[in-house]
Amino acid sequence: MTTATHQLTYCWVTDAADTEHAVTYDDLARAIIDQHGQYTALCGAHLHPAALTATPNGRCPRCHAALRVTDIQPSGRHRAN
Ligand SMILES: [Zn+2]
Repeated sequence: MTTATHQLTYCWVTDAADTEHAVTYDDLARAIIDQHGQYTALCGAHLHPAALTATPNGRCPRCHAALRVTDIQPSGRHRAN
Protein backbone atom coordinates (compact mmCIF):
# COMPACT_ATOMS: atom_id res chain seq x y z
CA MET A 1 0.00 0.00 0.00
CA THR A 2 1.28 3.45 -0.85
CA THR A 3 0.40 6.66 0.83
CA ALA A 4 -0.07 9.80 -1.22
CA THR A 5 1.75 12.80 0.12
CA HIS A 6 1.44 16.41 -0.87
CA GLN A 7 4.69 18.27 -0.50
CA LEU A 8 4.40 22.02 -0.63
CA THR A 9 6.92 23.88 -2.70
CA TYR A 10 7.63 27.58 -2.95
CA CYS A 11 9.48 30.11 -5.01
CA TRP A 12 10.68 33.64 -4.33
CA VAL A 13 8.55 36.47 -5.71
CA THR A 14 9.84 40.04 -5.82
CA ASP A 15 7.44 42.72 -4.60
CA ALA A 16 7.21 46.36 -5.72
CA ALA A 17 9.81 47.35 -3.08
CA ASP A 18 12.26 44.80 -4.57
CA THR A 19 12.06 42.45 -1.58
CA GLU A 20 11.72 38.75 -2.32
CA HIS A 21 9.03 36.83 -0.45
CA ALA A 22 8.45 33.09 -0.35
CA VAL A 23 5.15 32.11 -1.96
CA THR A 24 3.89 28.55 -2.19
CA TYR A 25 2.97 27.13 -5.56
CA ASP A 26 -0.50 26.51 -4.17
CA ASP A 27 -0.88 30.24 -3.53
CA LEU A 28 0.59 31.11 -6.93
CA ALA A 29 -1.99 28.85 -8.57
CA ARG A 30 -4.79 30.35 -6.46
CA ALA A 31 -3.78 33.89 -7.49
CA ILE A 32 -3.70 32.91 -11.15
CA ILE A 33 -7.13 31.29 -10.93
CA ASP A 34 -8.56 34.29 -9.07
CA GLN A 35 -6.97 36.68 -11.61
CA HIS A 36 -6.37 39.37 -9.01
CA GLY A 37 -2.59 39.48 -9.44
CA GLN A 38 -1.90 39.45 -5.73
CA TYR A 39 0.03 36.75 -3.90
CA THR A 40 0.14 35.96 -0.20
CA ALA A 41 3.63 35.26 1.08
CA LEU A 42 4.53 32.89 3.88
CA CYS A 43 5.08 35.92 6.13
CA GLY A 44 1.49 37.03 5.53
CA ALA A 45 2.34 39.92 3.23
CA HIS A 46 0.01 40.48 0.29
CA LEU A 47 2.06 41.54 -2.68
CA HIS A 48 1.83 42.41 -6.31
CA PRO A 49 4.87 41.08 -8.16
CA ALA A 50 7.43 43.44 -9.61
CA ALA A 51 8.38 43.35 -13.27
CA LEU A 52 10.57 40.45 -14.34
CA THR A 53 13.35 42.92 -14.96
CA ALA A 54 13.37 44.10 -11.33
CA THR A 55 16.50 43.21 -9.43
CA PRO A 56 15.73 41.74 -5.99
CA ASN A 57 17.24 43.64 -3.10
CA GLY A 58 17.21 41.03 -0.37
CA ARG A 59 14.86 38.41 0.96
CA CYS A 60 12.18 38.89 3.57
CA PRO A 61 13.43 37.82 7.03
CA ARG A 62 9.91 36.85 8.12
CA CYS A 63 9.58 34.47 5.16
CA HIS A 64 12.98 32.99 6.07
CA ALA A 65 11.72 32.49 9.63
CA ALA A 66 8.54 30.85 8.36
CA LEU A 67 10.59 28.48 6.20
CA ARG A 68 12.67 27.42 9.21
CA VAL A 69 9.60 26.15 11.05
CA THR A 70 8.03 24.32 8.10
CA ASP A 71 9.11 21.48 5.87
CA ILE A 72 8.27 23.35 2.67
CA GLN A 73 10.83 22.58 0.01
CA PRO A 74 12.21 25.08 -2.49
CA SER A 75 11.20 24.48 -6.05
CA GLY A 76 14.71 24.94 -7.39
CA ARG A 77 16.17 28.03 -8.94
CA HIS A 78 12.94 29.18 -10.57
CA ARG A 79 11.87 32.72 -9.76
CA ALA A 80 8.30 33.80 -10.37
CA ASN A 81 7.32 37.41 -10.79
ZN1 LIG B 1 7.83 37.75 3.38
